[in-house]
Amino acid sequence: MNDEQFRLEVRGWLTSALASPEFACLAGKGGTGRAHEFVAERMAWERRLGADGWIGLGWPEADGGRGLSWDQQVIFYEEYARANAPGRVGHIGEQLVGPTLLMFGTAEQKARFLPGIAAGTELWCQGYSEPGAGSDLAGLRTRASLLDDEWHIDGQKIWTSLAHVADWCFLLARTEAGSDRHRGLSCLLVPVRQPGIEIRPITQITGTAEFNEVFFDDARTAAANIAGSPGDGWRVALGMLGVERGVSNLGQLIGFQREFSLVLDAARGNGSIDDPDIAARIADAWIALQVLRFTTEDALGAADAGGGLAGGGLAGGGLAGGVAANITKLMWTTWHQRLGELAVDVAGPDATLAGADYGLTDTQRLFLFARAETIFGGSNEIQRNIVAERGLGLPRG
Ligand SMILES: Cc1cc2nc3c(=O)[nH]c(=O)nc-3n(C[C@H](O)[C@H](O)[C@H](O)COP(=O)(O)OP(=O)(O)OC[C@H]3O[C@@H](n4cnc5c(N)ncnc54)[C@H](O)[C@@H]3O)c2cc1C
Repeated sequence: MNDEQFRLEVRGWLTSALASPEFACLAGKGGTGRAHEFVAERMAWERRLGADGWIGLGWPEADGGRGLSWDQQVIFYEEYARANAPGRVGHIGEQLVGPTLLMFGTAEQKARFLPGIAAGTELWCQGYSEPGAGSDLAGLRTRASLLDDEWHIDGQKIWTSLAHVADWCFLLARTEAGSDRHRGLSCLLVPVRQPGIEIRPITQITGTAEFNEVFFDDARTAAANIAGSPGDGWRVALGMLGVERGVSNLGQLIGFQREFSLVLDAARGNGSIDDPDIAARIADAWIALQVLRFTTEDALGAADAGGGLAGGGLAGGGLAGGVAANITKLMWTTWHQRLGELAVDVAGPDATLAGADYGLTDTQRLFLFARAETIFGGSNEIQRNIVAERGLGLPRG
């Protein structure tokens, strides 16, 4: 099937699936800052995507994926965003855990875990950050020891997105007693619903709770549930960070275009476009969005050629050290935060009024949630450090 036929197939499937009575309520729901919306329906949507073969598009067919080309994966994400399809609850499994298991998992682990992710029936969360170990991840203190064929886990994770709906946690823990920093860590695959795990949601500035504190008190997982070798967890954990946010970034840009158009319409509607400052900021936002799109396409093209976003420099080799993903993360998060500020200024005093049922308006949600984007997935300061040190060869700070 050529790309154009594939695009029509994706578009047709999305149109009909989203029009079905079960999912008609989901248009535009559950995106950033709205992960609390229609959770049960979005879990059912995940299973529908899986049943019809729309999860794991780039995975090898032998591992339950569709082995689709990079271009066709991009088409899927573009069409998904264009259809205003709901925010995914299975993205951590599909985009982080699946690719990591493909890189580091045993044949048994792939056979056990990939089908549940591809079917949309098993959801995952990522347990890396701890109080005191976020940017400085190697400082983590959650520990696990092997006793009688089981890992016994004690400690605490924090900011664990979607742990409250997850079935499994991809957990980074210290498995060698007395080890220090990045040595002696392991990546464990831990069932979330068990007596030794307590999950406490954390409410964010948006009033919603997308992430959690997760407490481990003699939690258990089978000895075989370890990705990579014991003590090799740092390499595996970095492997996962390398695949974080690849091709789906392009779909996200279509969502950004939609948000930008809404701000532009609002400025035209209330006359604030006549304010030269607002007009200039709108023009700047549009220009920056084009630059962001070209840079992302360029970085993804380089990643495709080089086998992964982490390994790709900006095409043409302008920057050494594989910092393209860091640069695009810096760019999109900064752009999106500025768009939130612009949206509030365009709305003027109306931006302070509550929305329906005293909930947040889209403008308020954009403005507030975008604060998180320069923090998660590695804060912007850390991205700048990486660009400076690995990309430009500047001395370590
Ligand atoms: C919405 C959201 C979802 C998240 N989801 C998950 C998840 O699912 N799983 C998970 O494991 N984690 C998750 N996180 C956690 C995220 O990865 C961390 O918040 C992030 O790595 C920063 O760590 P920290 O919060 O401990 O801040 P800190 O590391 O304490 O940083 C505090 C401030 O100091 C700055 N700073 C720290 N070190 C340096 C340095 N060396 N140079 C310059 N500046 C520095 C930081 O940039 C920041 O401004 C999530 C976070 C958010 C906001």
